[in-house]
Amino acid sequence: DPVVSLDGVTKTYQLGGTVTALDDVSVSLDAGSYTAVMGPSGSGKSTLLNLIGGLDTADTGTVRVDGVDLGSVSESQRAAKRGTAIGFVFQTFNLMPRLTAVENVALPLVFDGWTRSERLERARQMLDDVGLGDRHDHKPAELSGGQRQRVAIARALAPNPSLLLADEPTGNVDTDTGAAIMRLLADIHDRGNTILLVSHARRIAEHAERIVHVRDGRLERVETVGRRRPHG
Ligand code: ADP
Ligand code: ADP
Repeated sequence: DPVVSLDGVTKTYQLGGTVTALDDVSVSLDAGSYTAVMGPSGSGKSTLLNLIGGLDTADTGTVRVDGVDLGSVSESQRAAKRGTAIGFVFQTFNLMPRLTAVENVALPLVFDGWTRSERLERARQMLDDVGLGDRHDHKPAELSGGQRQRVAIARALAPNPSLLLADEPTGNVDTDTGAAIMRLLADIHDRGNTILLVSHARRIAEHAERIVHVRDGRLERVETVGRRRPHG
């Protein structure tokens, strides 16, 4: 079964008139796949992420994550799903400034029934896996942009989610650092993780196996790109 499937999803907003943010969108993400959603500003990318992440619900159609129809469960069940099934990475990192890297990565495990020492051990392992073995006790302000994004990726993966959702993960770093982040995402995909990447930029979206093109809330076409191996 797919990790995520959308079937005939429509989402409108009422804002001095009706804005159709998503219009009859159907798409599914198989386990282990690496998909990019690409489209210009206002095309519906964030709306799609919010629906998959359970932050909002569709007007019509269904959104399933791990087989669960998010429209048929309570707000608290949606929130629980968001906490465990999906790991989020944002362009602004969203780290807690007063916490160290290890403490940031351990944070989502608080809801998962781990003891404190288990959480910290898992967090150290996750940081080692993203190449930050020597930065465990640094706070975000003591890290570079690329290092902060790697902490955010380690945090997203710590609860072993079914899906890693990366929204413009290179949006706030320079080109070389962005390339390093895309290499890390490729490694994470190679380790068997399912990834959904969102970007307006083709050179970023091309790192996935396929690109889902959205425009004006509609899924225009799905392009197979065969995952460009980042180099350098
Ligand atoms: P993208 O992420 O591709 O820039 P969005 O999903 O943010 O696109 O937006 C799709 C459309 O829905 C746009 O026309 C946007 O103005 C509208 N929209 C998104 N969120 C809201 C909202 N909360 N209220 C009203 N309109 C919204
Ligand atoms: P990356 O390529 O991982 O983003 P950089 O080349 O930007 O790394 O940073 C090189 C080194 O400088 C890193 O080891 C990092 O710890 C340090 N560094 C970068 N920015 C800061 C900062 N704002 N405060 C403290 N150290 C920093």
